[in-house]
Amino acid sequence: MQELLARPIQFVKGVGEKRAALFHRLGVHTVHDLLTLFPHRYEDWSQLCSIASAPLGETCCVRATALGKPVEHRIRKGLTLYKFTVSDGISGMHVTLFNNKYAAASIRAGEDYLFFGTVEQRFHRFEMSSPTIAPVQGGGIRPIYPQTAGLNTAAIARTVKAALALFDGEIEAEALSEDLRRRHDLIGRSDAIRAIHFPSSHRALEAARKRLVFEELFVLQLGLLRLKGRSRRQTAVTLTRDCTAEFEALLPFSLTGAQRRAMADCLIDLQSDRPMNRLVQGDVGSGKTAVAAGVCYSVIRNGWQAAMMAPTEILARQHHASLTKLFEGSDIRVGLLVSSMTAAEKRATLCALADGSLSLVVGTHALLSDRVTFAALGLVITDEQHRFGVGQRAALSAKGRDPHRLVMSATPIPRTLALMIYGDLDVSVLDELPPGRQPIETYAVGTDKRERVYRYIDKFLSVGRQGYIVCPLIEDDEENEQNELMAAEEYYARLQQTPLAKYRIGLLHGRMKGAQKDEVMRAFAAHEIDLLVSTTVIEVGVDVPNAVIMVIENAERFGLAQMHQLRGRVGRGKHASTCILISDARTDETRRRLKVMTQTNDGFVIAEEDLKLRGPGDFFGNRQHGLPVLALADLKADLQVLQQAQTEALALYERDPFLSDPTLAPVKAMVARLFAQVGEDGMN
Ligand code: ADP
Ligand code: MG
Repeated sequence: MQELLARPIQFVKGVGEKRAALFHRLGVHTVHDLLTLFPHRYEDWSQLCSIASAPLGETCCVRATALGKPVEHRIRKGLTLYKFTVSDGISGMHVTLFNNKYAAASIRAGEDYLFFGTVEQRFHRFEMSSPTIAPVQGGGIRPIYPQTAGLNTAAIARTVKAALALFDGEIEAEALSEDLRRRHDLIGRSDAIRAIHFPSSHRALEAARKRLVFEELFVLQLGLLRLKGRSRRQTAVTLTRDCTAEFEALLPFSLTGAQRRAMADCLIDLQSDRPMNRLVQGDVGSGKTAVAAGVCYSVIRNGWQAAMMAPTEILARQHHASLTKLFEGSDIRVGLLVSSMTAAEKRATLCALADGSLSLVVGTHALLSDRVTFAALGLVITDEQHRFGVGQRAALSAKGRDPHRLVMSATPIPRTLALMIYGDLDVSVLDELPPGRQPIETYAVGTDKRERVYRYIDKFLSVGRQGYIVCPLIEDDEENEQNELMAAEEYYARLQQTPLAKYRIGLLHGRMKGAQKDEVMRAFAAHEIDLLVSTTVIEVGVDVPNAVIMVIENAERFGLAQMHQLRGRVGRGKHASTCILISDARTDETRRRLKVMTQTNDGFVIAEEDLKLRGPGDFFGNRQHGLPVLALADLKADLQVLQQAQTEALALYERDPFLSDPTLAPVKAMVARLFAQVGEDGMN
């Protein structure tokens, strides 16, 4: 059986060299590859419709008799139509095939066939164009495979069928124990493989899918747990002193319980002989910077250096400013490294890092440059992790010898997914906001209310508060920056015709140089600007407590998570804050998104909703996370299965982390195979 699965596909009846080459293009080399090339959808040929009752505009399957042989009509070079008439005994229907000589030649007058396609009604007569035609015994639920030129779904289905016929009983060793299958009501692997290709009913298909999805997620979880275990190498950076209490004494506020817990988690890691690898996840405003600062403080007091990398210059400069402030009462100096600095400034930072006289540096990607060396790098922090690739994180760590790593993310991820996405990280959650925060009131209005919105802003600005207007996003990617600039400038100009013209209005957009942006942000923070018109560059991290109103134009263009991030720029001080979403879009999806925003301020709830509305593609679809691509599981639809698989994988991992029990050989092989894709065999 194992041996049969490993055979090249030429072994399957009907596969010669030419066809094998086509299969190779689909990544199918062996019999096993072929059997795990799962259909990506199905056509339901099991429910037959009469011609007259066929749903208009939808595909369906009709059983009918060919009343004559197809007649050829040569329309022009390269276009030949074949027309014939069929009847289901009650109504007639005209069938047209385009250039399909092969299908036309197979039709015999007087015979019954199944026609799968869309029935259309034109001038009181029924028509079907280019249906898929099959003999009457060819009904049921038919698999549709990913195709490639020269290899259509029918050919693939025939080959899969021939491959399945090579096996009489078991196809592949069972990877899930009987006990586990019983608990979760899962069918056997071999049955599932047969049924996923050629299901006898919808129920059979459901059962097959459930089994295979469970298995895939279970295997993924096991691999991730292994990766996590393995990343625990030795490190020389073992702290002997926890200086958190000393750090707290420097702060003008006391830490929240959540901040204290996250710091304690980190300090346990830092005092072990394994490198910390921890994600601190917290909603906007939950105080991640203070946590990072506290962790840096202990690391530095123990004689090591720390580096923090942020995705944008604005954010790096702001972290630099807030860390400098937090460490005001201590002798810790905070260095900065961003590309817009002068050569001399950079050189000073580089030297001080290399000789160890500077113990803390904040920067952008500039930190990754070869010229940056550390005397004793003990801790690497990356902020807003979703903007860094795994490789970039690793590049910074490589500047030390297995330093501790802390990742901060303001994208709250539903707990169920956190383990999955940050598979190799431990997670601490800041699920508590600093006291005294006023909830942000959020309203969604149409563009017809814009005048009123401006008057409303006026009310706030007139009593000394500040505000943001996030101007329309432009979708065109290529000229994005140019358009962004135009949109922002145009908006800025239009505001001069409104009651808001009397205020000091600033403009911030992506085309500005780092130093220019910085100047605008500084001026805004210093209240030299009352109202900041901006594109989404303010999205991350910007912290101005006196800003209490935010207007988001074209709110429909933003994803939930992004709107939430933007909104987090207000509500950071003692004043009650408001966010107004302006949009005319009326699709259900948009309405639902805007409604979610008006109903909750909780980033985790919003993330769950985002996941439901958009699917996990954003989190999961890209390879940035270095995770394997899943063949069947859809995390949006299969969230519940994911949870079950997670629990089971963890239980198994705790019993037998190396999967060394001989009965686990099949699942162990699957983990190795899944992770081979990402160059990690997951089992080392
Ligand atoms: P995040 O990065 O998580 O969005 P920040 O670290 O920027 O949040 O913190 C937001 C604001 O809250 C900052 O002004 C910070 O000084 C303040 N802050 C942080 N922790 C506390 C606390 N425990 N009590 C009061 N204010 C806090
Ligand atoms: Mg932050």
